[in-house]
Amino acid sequence: MALIVQKYGGTSVGNIERIKNVARRVANTFNENNRVVVVLSAMSGETNKLVGYANEVSEFPVSREYDMIISTGEQVTIGLLALALNEMGYRAKSFLGHQVPIVTDSQFGSARIESIGGEKIMRELKDGVIAVVAGFQGVDSDGNITTLGRGGSDTTAVALAAALKADLCEIYTDVEGVYTTDPNICQDARKLKKISYDEMLEMASLGAKVLQTRSVEFAKKYEVPVMVRSSFNDAPGTLVCKEDAEMEKVVVSGVTYNKDEAKISVLRVPDRPGIAAKLFRPLTEAGINVDMIVQNISHDAHTDLTFTVSKSEFKRALKLVKETAGEIEAKDVVGDPNIAKVSIVGAGMRSHAGIASKMFEVMSKEGINIQMISTSEIKISCVVDVKYTELAVRVLHEAFGLAGEVAEETE
Ligand code: ADP
Ligand code: ASP
Ligand code: MG
Repeated sequence: MALIVQKYGGTSVGNIERIKNVARRVANTFNENNRVVVVLSAMSGETNKLVGYANEVSEFPVSREYDMIISTGEQVTIGLLALALNEMGYRAKSFLGHQVPIVTDSQFGSARIESIGGEKIMRELKDGVIAVVAGFQGVDSDGNITTLGRGGSDTTAVALAAALKADLCEIYTDVEGVYTTDPNICQDARKLKKISYDEMLEMASLGAKVLQTRSVEFAKKYEVPVMVRSSFNDAPGTLVCKEDAEMEKVVVSGVTYNKDEAKISVLRVPDRPGIAAKLFRPLTEAGINVDMIVQNISHDAHTDLTFTVSKSEFKRALKLVKETAGEIEAKDVVGDPNIAKVSIVGAGMRSHAGIASKMFEVMSKEGINIQMISTSEIKISCVVDVKYTELAVRVLHEAFGLAGEVAEETE
């Protein structure tokens, strides 16, 4: 008997009819002699609505209460699915994060899973029960409800699959798998049959929100095979797995974009040891992640420092940096939320030269100004004006032959 964890995203449980559709799919898997654990998101739009409520009451909501509010969408969907399965004659029970328990640290809003107690769920499964678990939420060691960051239900699913030693973790969503780029903005995007954990990790962290980055970290660490598929048809999906020789042949396997970033520049910072540490310390203490950092060459003992943070943390970060800038006698701080990061990703970049210059040429031909650049072994990212995002993605997708030859290799 196999143990399968299935996660259904917001669109897949977006209304009662869709929840009944999910119940039928879960029942089919159960009837094929499997033990089934289901992880659900809130109905699509619901978490945004809850975030909106919190922001109407407070510009900078107290993080404990924020999580208390935004974690509630999942409670509704798990109850409804368990009810639908019971109506169909199956035994199903819903569980909130603390009932499993899924124990996290106390970093409200982006908590990390520390441990999962799988005993209760295993007992239920052995008893013939279908377990339906709320995604996105956990509990800290003081009993406070925490959330795992937006898109966090993917991480709940993969972490549960690892803890329960499941045979497979299926992520059901509104597209048929992982594509060479977001199929909703590029019609030529091609579905990949397989993608390595490392490439998926880069794609996810660079904006391909089809999987939350932390879910891929878990999948890689515990070698959980993850299948991304559609909940609306039976088309074969994309397997996220260990890299094989075939994958290395592909130079660029995907193009991603992230509009959820904002840029902060600190102008005319005195160029002396300890300044960067002083600027970034308050951000770290506030739990704000800094992504790209660029420091210009120093002129008359002063330099400019530019970095990016996520849009949701922009206001908070700007306020903190302005405070520190006064202390270190920087001339000014300017923020720009109208940016996007466009990236190309591929395991084959390790062994191929000239990829970066080709990327820059393609962008310059379209008159797209590159504001910041960062690279790693298997990716190159450029920050551009947000209005060029779609254009940049399409021309890069085309220039690196993703709709044609690469996709054929992976078919
Ligand atoms: P869910 O609610 O099921 O978790 P998400 O909206 O979080 O769904 O993720 C699915 C979306 O990810 C797709 O609708 C698609 O627009 C987007 N996406 C971005 N990049 C990619 C990619 N490379 N492959 C597939 N989907 C992608
Ligand atoms: N409902 C949460 C969100 O919208 C978690 C998820 O969907 O994965 O971010
Ligand atoms: Mg998602």
